[in-house]
Amino acid sequence: MAMQEIEHATPEAPAEQAPVAPRGAPTRGMTTPASACAEAPSLAPVASTLPATADGAPTAQTVTPPAVHSAPETPASQPTEIAISVVIPVYNEAQSVQPLYEALHAELERLGKSYEIIYVDDGSRDGSFEALKALHESDPHVRVVRFRRNFGKTPALVAGFARARGEIVFTMDADLQDDPTEIPQFLAKLDEGYDLVSGWKYPRLDPITKTFPSRIFNGMVSMSTGVKLHDINCGFKAYRHEILDDIKLYGELHRFIPVLAHQRGFRVTEVKVRHHKRKFGKSKFGARRFLRGFLDLMMVVFLMTYLRTPLRLFGTLGILTLIAGFVIDLYVVLDRYLPFGSHTEIHNRPILFVGIILLVFGVSFILTGLQSEMIRHFAYRPEEEYSIKQALD
Ligand code: UDP
Ligand code: MG
Repeated sequence: MAMQEIEHATPEAPAEQAPVAPRGAPTRGMTTPASACAEAPSLAPVASTLPATADGAPTAQTVTPPAVHSAPETPASQPTEIAISVVIPVYNEAQSVQPLYEALHAELERLGKSYEIIYVDDGSRDGSFEALKALHESDPHVRVVRFRRNFGKTPALVAGFARARGEIVFTMDADLQDDPTEIPQFLAKLDEGYDLVSGWKYPRLDPITKTFPSRIFNGMVSMSTGVKLHDINCGFKAYRHEILDDIKLYGELHRFIPVLAHQRGFRVTEVKVRHHKRKFGKSKFGARRFLRGFLDLMMVVFLMTYLRTPLRLFGTLGILTLIAGFVIDLYVVLDRYLPFGSHTEIHNRPILFVGIILLVFGVSFILTGLQSEMIRHFAYRPEEEYSIKQALD
């Protein structure tokens, strides 16, 4: 099972301001059949598949591009108005933009559902934004968000998710390594009732320096979280929209979305997808990702287990450490004074200090647990205590 790494890139110098994607704006050229409009996502039955045959997708090119393209931003997620949103983070992928768009556009048109493609330019400095802008001007399905600088893949996905109006939201990498013709496979799995379908790059065409550590990482994740995926970090995924309202993404947690979704009760699965070698540009994630991935894994495991009851973790650790320290020091003292002991002077027993250190650690573990409970108490938000699949009122 599986999963994999990640990494992030360096911030960049701010680029000049540009118009940003609209949000909740009028459905620009988007085929938005009423039938495709979902009701409150949380009420939608899980197996409810995509809004079947949404209106035949409009001939993108024939739709007149809207003159104005901006709308107020709102932090909340968009209501699902269309069938499919594809969110693509782009960081210095200028040469890949056009070929990826052509392949994706062809596939989405073939599906005949309403759709939108949301590109998030994560502070590119290689002309990616200009290429995206040209797409936006020629195709009303294309929306573009441009960051002021490079913030990382997770923030890029978060910005895309916040704007996505699709009942189903896809994510894909911008580097042509993911193949849009796999989209129907993902939809078929969602139709089976799954909420999240993760790609499994098979065979994976990356250098061994990437694939080997990734294997280990995937193994560790599946062992420690119970989410059995072979390629958790694959950028190609499909989500039911309501997942996106239910998880909090920050740092580099995009690697762990399937784990976070699983923890909230969503059904997660994977499909094998064709993987292509990187044609242009280079990978943004280097060797640092492994240590970071490991630390993030520790955090995710904590979030999944003791986040809600931190004293149970720190208190247990603290009590065990206290007991160990106490037993060690008690032994040192008894050994000195009891008639059958060795009568070694206490100050000549280095192990005495081990006992003392354990006692100190024990107390501080317990205090950490109590402090965590305090944070938990004040940060309590009732709606985060559960995840509703359906409500019959
Ligand atoms: N990416 C991004 N911001 C970053 C790093 C990467 O938006 O800071 C995008 C990148 O353009 C690509 C995707 O995230 O579309 C995956 O990156 P990459 O292909 O470099 O990762 P790899 O496939 O090598 O793991
Ligand atoms: Mg890649």
